Amino acid sequence: MAEMFARRMGTVHRSFIREILKVTANPEIISFAGGLPNPELFPVAAMGKAAHEVFSNIGASALQYSTTEGDAGLRAIIARRYRENRGLVVDPDSILITTGSQQILDIVAKVFIDQGDKVVIERPGYLGAIQAFSLFEPEFVTVSLEPDGPNLDELEAAFRDGAKCFYSVPNFQNPSGVSYSLAKRKGVAELLDRYDVLFIEDDPYGELRFMGEDLPSIYSFCNKPGILCGSFSKIAAPGFRIGWLVAGQAAYDKLVIAKQAADLHTSTVAQAIMRRYLETNDIESHVALIRERYGYQRGVMVEMIRQYFPSCVTIIEPEGGMFLWATMPEGFSSMDLFDVAIKDKVAFVPGRPFYVDGTGENTMRLNFSNSDEARIEAGIKRLGKSIEAFLE
Ligand code: PMP
Repeated sequence: MAEMFARRMGTVHRSFIREILKVTANPEIISFAGGLPNPELFPVAAMGKAAHEVFSNIGASALQYSTTEGDAGLRAIIARRYRENRGLVVDPDSILITTGSQQILDIVAKVFIDQGDKVVIERPGYLGAIQAFSLFEPEFVTVSLEPDGPNLDELEAAFRDGAKCFYSVPNFQNPSGVSYSLAKRKGVAELLDRYDVLFIEDDPYGELRFMGEDLPSIYSFCNKPGILCGSFSKIAAPGFRIGWLVAGQAAYDKLVIAKQAADLHTSTVAQAIMRRYLETNDIESHVALIRERYGYQRGVMVEMIRQYFPSCVTIIEPEGGMFLWATMPEGFSSMDLFDVAIKDKVAFVPGRPFYVDGTGENTMRLNFSNSDEARIEAGIKRLGKSIEAFLE
C-alpha cells in the first residue's frame, strides 16, 4: 500500500507542551508549564452582557456567514487602538481578522513558503510557529537570541544566504521573555530593507509591558510592509480565537485567499461579541489590570528564584509578557530534571523543543501568569530542591 500520510506529516510532531499539559492536569502539581493567561482576569460578566446585547440587538445576523476580511467595526477599533496606544497608523482595510493569531502562521506559510525555502527564526523560537511552518517543509535557519534581541551578525549572514522571511516575536518573546532593544529593532529593520526579506512580526504580548518603556514595532521602521500579527487572546480572552494581521496590499490579497480556503471567515458571533465588548467597556483599564497583576507575579517569581535556586542557574528577567527563561549549567538536562520535578509535584517546560537544531538541553521556560503568589512561592521552592537534588 502506498504511504497513507502525506510526506509533510513526517517531520511534524504533536506539540510537546500540549503533551506536558496532560501530565500537569493533576491539581497537586504546581505547573509553570502552560502558557495560559490568568482566568481570574477574564472579563466574564462583561462578555456575558456583550453576548446578550449582541443577540438582542442584531440577532440572526450575528449567526450568519460573513466576510473573510472580518467585521468592519472590529477592524476600525483595532486600527484606532494602534494609533492611540502605539502611534502606528494602520488602514482598517489592511487588517484581516483571523481565527487566533495562530492561524496567521498557517496562512502565511501557505502563501509564502515553498519546500526548502529558508525561513529564519529565533533560537529559541515559538513552538507554534515551528509547528505551523514545518508542515510546508522549509529549511529553518536560526539566529541566536541575546538578552536584547537577535544577534545581528548571524541575522545578516542568514539574510545574505538567501532567506525568504524572518519570523520574530520582538516583545516578551515566547519562550524566552526577551524583548528587543530599540537599537536591535532598528538594526533588524535596516537588514530587512537591505536584503529585501519578508518580515513576520508576531506581537501577542506587546501590550503586557509592566516595566521599562514601550518601544515601537519593527514594522514601523521598515520601508516595505511586512506582516504584523496581533491577538485578543492575552488582553481579553483566548477562547474567542480572534487575532488579526496587518499587511501590504499584495500580501493581503493572497492571505485572504488562503484564509478563505481554510475556514471562509472567523466566527461571526465571536467577532460581534468582541466588538460589542470593546465598544461598551474600557479595555485600556482592563489591560492595565492584567499588566499590574502579571508584573506582581513576575516579581514574586524572580524573588523566589533568587532565594531558592542554586546560583549556577541564570535567568532572563522579563519586562512584560508571561514567561521567564532559566539556563542551567552546560551539560545539565532539563528533560531529565522534568521527571524529577514531576515527582516533587512541580512542572515547567524543558527548553529543547524550542530549538530546531536540538540544542538548548540546559534551558527551561517558566510561566508566571497563571499562578498566584502562594503557588509561585511553593512551586519555586520545590523546583529549587529538585534542581539541587539533580545537581548532586
Ligand atoms: N504567537 C505567539 C508568540 C504565542 O505565544 C501565541 C500563543 N501561545 C500565539 C501566537 C497564538 O495565539 P492566539 O492564536 O491565541 O492568538
